[in-house]
Amino acid sequence: MTLTAAPILRLETAVVNRIAAGEVVQRPCNALKELLENCLDAGSTSIQIILKQGGLILLQISDNGSGIRHDDLPILCERFTTSKLKQFEDLSSIATYGFRGEALASISHVAKLTVLTKTASDVVGKKAVFLDGHLQGSPLSMAANQGTQITVEDLFYNLPTRKRALKSGAEEFNRSADMVAKYAIHNSGRAGFSLKKDKDTTPYVRTTKDATLQTNIGQIFGHAMAKELIEVATADSARLKFKMSGWITNVNYNCKKFNFLLFINHRLVDHAGLKRSLQMVYNAYLPKGTHPFIYMSLEIAPENVDVNVHPTKHEVHFLHQDEIVESIQQAVDAKLLGSNTSRTFLTQG
Ligand code: ADP
Ligand code: MG
Repeated sequence: MTLTAAPILRLETAVVNRIAAGEVVQRPCNALKELLENCLDAGSTSIQIILKQGGLILLQISDNGSGIRHDDLPILCERFTTSKLKQFEDLSSIATYGFRGEALASISHVAKLTVLTKTASDVVGKKAVFLDGHLQGSPLSMAANQGTQITVEDLFYNLPTRKRALKSGAEEFNRSADMVAKYAIHNSGRAGFSLKKDKDTTPYVRTTKDATLQTNIGQIFGHAMAKELIEVATADSARLKFKMSGWITNVNYNCKKFNFLLFINHRLVDHAGLKRSLQMVYNAYLPKGTHPFIYMSLEIAPENVDVNVHPTKHEVHFLHQDEIVESIQQAVDAKLLGSNTSRTFLTQG
C-alpha cells in the first residue's frame, strides 16, 4: 500500500479564529464571566444581566462604567486590542481582570455581538454590531445612559455540534447564576448585581452596592446559613506577602455540598489543595460526609502569582503555597475552636 502525503495548507483566518474562540468560550457562563469582568474593569457600580435560555439565545449585560470611546469601536472586537495592557512588563502589576484583548473578539466569532455605549463626554450613545471580529456598517447614534450594554445573540450559531451539546437552558442558567452570585458576594461594597431570566419580573440574584458581605451571602445562600457565619482573617504576612479574609460557617452548620468561594487577587479561582486542607480542618468538627460554606479572599503579592493564565483555566499557582495554605488552616482552626467553646459554654450555662 502506498501512502500519499496530503499537502499542508494554511487555514483561513476565520477558521482559526472560530476554533480559538470556541476554546475560550465553551459555554454561556464563560462569555458572561468575561463580560462581567469587563464591567468591573470599567469601574461599574451597577451591573444588570438578562439571560434567555441560559444565555444560549440571548445574554445581555448592562453597566454604568466608563463606557467605550466611540473612536475605538471599529477595532473593539479585533483580537488583541485592549485598553488595559501596553507592554509585557505591565503584566506583573496589572490590576484589571482583562489584558489580552481576546474576549470580545472570541465572542463575536461565535455569536452576534451588539454594543451600546456612552462615555461621560459623549452627548449620545452609539450602537454597533459585530460579527467575526468586524464592525457591521457604521455605528448608529442612539439615546443611552453612561456605560455599556453588550448583547450576545444566538451563541454558537456557527458551531452546530457545540450548540446541540448545550441544549439545556436550565443547566446553563444555573452555571451562570452560580458565577454571578460569587462575583456579587465578592464585590459587596463595590458593585450591585442583578440577574434575571428574560421573562421573569423578579431577579434571581440581586445585591445592592452598599449591602455588607454577610447580607449579600444571606440574600443568595439563605439567612439560615448566613447567621452561622464567622469572620476569619490573617494579618498581612511580610515574609509570605499575603493576607486572607473571609466568612466561614461555624461548627453548628453543615451541608451536603462544599460551597467554596475562593478569590485570589479578586479573581474567582479554584485551588484543590487549599480546598482539601480546609475540609480536613472541618472534618474534626462536622458530622462525617458534611461540608461547610466558605467565602475566602486572598491577596497575594502580584509578582508571586502566575496571572498569565488561559481564560478557561481556573486552577491558580502561587509561591510559598504550602506555608500559605498552612497558615490559613491555622486561622480557620482557631476560629472553629473558638466557636465550638462558646457553644459548649452557652449550652452548659
Ligand atoms: P480585555 O478586557 O482583555 O482588554 P476584551 O476583549 O474583554 O479585552 O475587551 C476589549 C476592550 O473593550 C477593553 O480593553 C475595554 O477597553 C473595552 N471594553 C469592553 N467591555 C467594556 C465595558 N463593559 N466597559 C468599558 N469598556 C469595555
Ligand atoms: Mg476583558
